[in-house]
Amino acid sequence: MPHPTATRPTHGHGHANGIGAVKPDGWAYNRAPMIVYWELTNACGLACRHCRATAMPDAMPGELSTAQAIALLDDILGFAGPGEALPHVVMTGGDPLRRPDLPELLAAATERGIGVSLAPAVTPLLTRERIFWMKEMGVQAISLSLDGSTAAFHDGVRMVPGTFDATIEALDIAAEAGLPVQVNTLVTATTAADLPAVYELLSAHTLMQWSLFFLISIGRGTELTELSPGEAEKWLLWAARTNREASFRVKTTEAMHFRRLMAAPMLRAGSSKEEIEALPLSRAFGIRDGNGIVFVSNLGEVTPSGFLPLSVGNVKDASLVSLYRDQPVMRALRDPDQFKGRCGACEYHDWCGGSRARAYAWTGDPLESDPLCPYVPRPGASLAQ
Ligand code: SF4
Repeated sequence: MPHPTATRPTHGHGHANGIGAVKPDGWAYNRAPMIVYWELTNACGLACRHCRATAMPDAMPGELSTAQAIALLDDILGFAGPGEALPHVVMTGGDPLRRPDLPELLAAATERGIGVSLAPAVTPLLTRERIFWMKEMGVQAISLSLDGSTAAFHDGVRMVPGTFDATIEALDIAAEAGLPVQVNTLVTATTAADLPAVYELLSAHTLMQWSLFFLISIGRGTELTELSPGEAEKWLLWAARTNREASFRVKTTEAMHFRRLMAAPMLRAGSSKEEIEALPLSRAFGIRDGNGIVFVSNLGEVTPSGFLPLSVGNVKDASLVSLYRDQPVMRALRDPDQFKGRCGACEYHDWCGGSRARAYAWTGDPLESDPLCPYVPRPGASLAQ
């Protein structure tokens, strides 16, 4: 999904409460997320083995009504003061195409100047016409999931035969429609070895970026196994090398220590912290659960991310802006000095900070160290030279 391109001046607020990373372009995460992930519904025709949403064939009672959904869009406007950019909204699910009022919600977002991306499921609803329609409706990008280089791999995860071929077809139709695509690939102990083959496959198609989602064992994901820290390090190094040669950007989801692996060689080569922060690759530095992103569930519950199921309130009776800015859990997640163990002591914690979702899944404490990262911080080390 794209990041908003506008800069976000911080004069007048910035580091007012002393916490929250400030991006090089001035975006202050203690004021506003870059991205609001909004689960429009958990209805979905697939039954993926790792589904965070534990999606179901039909919508749950209590999903936001159209009026409540439009009120949420109005609320999101409150993140931006005069001259400030708005967060980008990623409409996800379940399958957002299962929301009957999707056309109305997309139109309402566009009217309000809110950039939107969609994360549709690959089902018969995702037709050629629907993909071109998304482009016409102003959708800025879509994401598609591809979890293996062959139908046997991919359909084995997605649990519906034919999804692999339909995904590749959707990827090509989106390219034809001029709709940028992010491909998401699940990385687990059993699927990682297939990554080079997925890369080869994707290299023959047009996409904007490839996001490697390092499994966190929640939702249906508990049936699958995470990589060991050593194996994760090996695949992240592979991803960093691949990012340098690929025609599309390679990024990670819930493996924030990818940033350490990308930055460490530059630091060793003499680049300063400021020089690295000015590079395009640093745009995502600092973003992690609750810091630069926030998640709204189909029922309106607000959590730091879709993978960190700690509700801080509900948009049906509270403002997303104040829940994001002021809830103690959210504030703590934006303050790496409150992190514990290795992540607390780590010189990279402003840029990385680890997966707070994985820390929570493994320990019950979102401020603990990310167990997927094997890095042992150097005592007293600093990124400043
Ligand atoms: S120890 Fe924590 S903060 Fe440091 S690189 Fe690893 S995950 Fe990131």
